[in-house]
Amino acid sequence: MSREKMEHILEKIKEYDRIMLFRHIRNDGDCVGASKGLKRIIQLSFPEKEVYLIDQNTAQYLEFMGPEDPEVPDEIYEGALGIVVDTASEARISNPKYKLCKELIKIDHHIPLEDYGDFSWVEEERPSCSEMIVAFYDAFRPELKLDSEGATYLYTGMVTDTGRFKYSGVNGDTLRMGAILLDIGVDTDILFARLYLEAYEYLKFKAHIYERMQITPNGVAYIYIDRAMQKEFNLSLEQASACIGNLDSIRGCISWIAFIETGDEEGSIRVRLRSRFVHINSIAENYHGGGHACASGATVYSREEVEALLADTDALVKEYKETHEDWL
Ligand code: AMP
Repeated sequence: MSREKMEHILEKIKEYDRIMLFRHIRNDGDCVGASKGLKRIIQLSFPEKEVYLIDQNTAQYLEFMGPEDPEVPDEIYEGALGIVVDTASEARISNPKYKLCKELIKIDHHIPLEDYGDFSWVEEERPSCSEMIVAFYDAFRPELKLDSEGATYLYTGMVTDTGRFKYSGVNGDTLRMGAILLDIGVDTDILFARLYLEAYEYLKFKAHIYERMQITPNGVAYIYIDRAMQKEFNLSLEQASACIGNLDSIRGCISWIAFIETGDEEGSIRVRLRSRFVHINSIAENYHGGGHACASGATVYSREEVEALLADTDALVKEYKETHEDWL
């Protein structure tokens, strides 16, 4: 089934002279890696085709992968094939000009909230969209080509979306796809240094997080990061949001949440929900969000909503703990 879908996508790529690539807002390592990796595969395999990836908002920590293409006139989009990677819903596509493309294909690994475009290849069980792009390359090599530059983009996507191959979605196929990239050539020393070294000041912020975090009665760890805290530690929204990873290893806390005030006019608060064993995407879906079973995002607009979301998650965790064993 997925083979047929991949074949269809390859046929479409062959059919068009121009391909426009898209990804999601608030981009992350996976959508940047998958989009840049796919671009590289198309460029290397079909040098006569034009491929554009236009998104001027790359997160700072991912800028080492290089800038995207500058904006082009609308005519360039018209008549082109559009491919959107790693984006579950249309509203999250970062470049609204995808609408101008003649045909649109979705390649994604999120739980599908809605269908959009003309053709979808979705594999929810894949822990990263970059892994799907490697599988696509693997299915049609040597016709499809990949070099160490492209392998590094894709490996970055795989590493960041799996927490360095740690999260529960990782399976044999993940490591097989990762192995293909390592065989092509990825300098993991420099990559891990770029992704994971932390500034001294950031460690001070971490210490603050550990002092401020709280736990609900049934074991949901959470932290609320207001604007003052972001200012005090001189943090970008992305840096502040990354704190979610610091709450992931508390024994008994099978769900953890970070609330980050975004400072926008609507007073929106970004919510990052994570869990092990229990699935929390239903909570995110009730608060203007969605995502994966154990990693979702949402948005709330008041402290009351923060409390409500926490109460809902606490109830979910309580029920899970009462009805399951072997969680820790
Ligand atoms: P985040 O905490 O923002 O990294 O989100 C975790 C996962 O949920 C990511 O895979 C996001 O793509 C997805 N996600 C985040 N926010 C939303 C949203 N508003 N709607 C649907 N999916 C989301």
